Amino acid sequence: MGYLRRSIKEIHEALISGAVTPEELVREALTKAHDNNDNAFEYICDKEAYEQIKDLGSKDKNNMLWGIPFVCKDNFSTKDIPTTASSNILNGYVPIFDSEVVIRLKNAGAILIGKATLDELAMGGTGTTGHLGDTYNPWDPSHKHQIGGSSCGSAASVAAGIVPFSIGSDTGDSVRKPAGYSALVGVKPTWGRISRFGLFPFAPSMDHVGYFTRNVFDGAVLLETLAGRDEKDSTSSTEKVIKYSDSVDGNLKGKKIAVIKEIVDSITNDDIKTAFESNLKEMEEAGAVINYVSMDSDLLKAIYPTYIVISCAEATSNNANLDGIKFGPRMGGHTYEEVMINARTKGFSELIKRRFVIGSYALMRENQEELFLRAQKARRLIVNAVNEILKDNDGIYMPSAPNTAPLFEGNSSNKLSNEYLIADNCLAIGNFGGLPSITLPLGFSNGLPFGSNLTCKPFDEATMFSIASGIENITGLKDLSAKGGKR
Ligand code: GLN
Repeated sequence: MGYLRRSIKEIHEALISGAVTPEELVREALTKAHDNNDNAFEYICDKEAYEQIKDLGSKDKNNMLWGIPFVCKDNFSTKDIPTTASSNILNGYVPIFDSEVVIRLKNAGAILIGKATLDELAMGGTGTTGHLGDTYNPWDPSHKHQIGGSSCGSAASVAAGIVPFSIGSDTGDSVRKPAGYSALVGVKPTWGRISRFGLFPFAPSMDHVGYFTRNVFDGAVLLETLAGRDEKDSTSSTEKVIKYSDSVDGNLKGKKIAVIKEIVDSITNDDIKTAFESNLKEMEEAGAVINYVSMDSDLLKAIYPTYIVISCAEATSNNANLDGIKFGPRMGGHTYEEVMINARTKGFSELIKRRFVIGSYALMRENQEELFLRAQKARRLIVNAVNEILKDNDGIYMPSAPNTAPLFEGNSSNKLSNEYLIADNCLAIGNFGGLPSITLPLGFSNGLPFGSNLTCKPFDEATMFSIASGIENITGLKDLSAKGGKR
């Protein structure tokens, strides 16, 4: 059959014409999920997916998502379906409610076929820290390369052709970075645009629901279902939801695009630099106005440390409820303190412990001024500088990472280099400012994909999709999936 490598739009048309049925799609997706050897799944919904099909009769068949199988990152609550956030501390936890994202998708007739692996509790960017181990990049069947994270399984399931879209979360870059490493479109809309009810918090001032598709149009269609006020999440916006797919017009004429010189200058990979520069030229030929702008490199280099201090501080506070009592398995002990110490000692990996130590240290009364409050001030300065650029421009455009997907072994990036501090971490500006941001495929180097990223003004997703579709027309890179694996 092979429908699941196609776009949402094409699968929808096949469903409407009767060329394929939801049952056939679900069977195909489940088979592929079981056959997959990228370690993309925490749980495969064999039984639950067929249950959902039974309700489809009562739903609007004309909804583009009707009958379409999807995968959700395992840090979203799913009623009666185990949800672990890839952490041992949540082994065996079965939520009693669905997250709002899952509710909306189910109401639209989309069918959840699996829960995807992630870096534990969505902290990390490697796809290696979840309790099931490494998640592999389907573009490299030899399994030497990462797909990135933290939404590793969500990216892998779309890149491997198992489902046409998946849900992830993005606190620093966790959807948009892996999207670039796997030739996908990765969308993180404005903060508050999509309800986070039922998403396990990591750093709520920067947490966003995000998602993966294989083209820009599908990305716009999905937002029409996901966006909108939800009374269960007081941070969700009342801003009107529009028909985002109408903005997928490919029109670059007169669009003002800023390129931050310091970001491009910090990249050393020639394939990426060359592809990005020729992409800019073609955008200009299509009518876009490219403005090279400068941003204080001290501010750019401050992005990563600022992100770490704020995200770790918020994480340690928000995850205080993981005490071994309310959720997940008991790990022994008689007093509350013993139970908690055992659960947190055995339940968290090294990375989580390290981040909680950093967060707690930054929050200690004697350190707050020097660390936490200083990081908040740095965040404000960075956001001000970015907003200043966006005042005169419709979007900021950059490579989504300075490299293709890193190796699991022998990856020796210098963590103090400008390349790492600036180009490898600057997608977090979209989280600092809550700005809508999209990653698109830009090219391939030695068989591995790399991407570009566009960040726009708050609630201006329409312009974001319009420009992104223009870029997609130029690169011609859409509807891609890795052909490795069994099917
Ligand atoms: N890679 C970043 C981190 O390590 C981003 C994580 C995310 O966006 N959830 O925290």
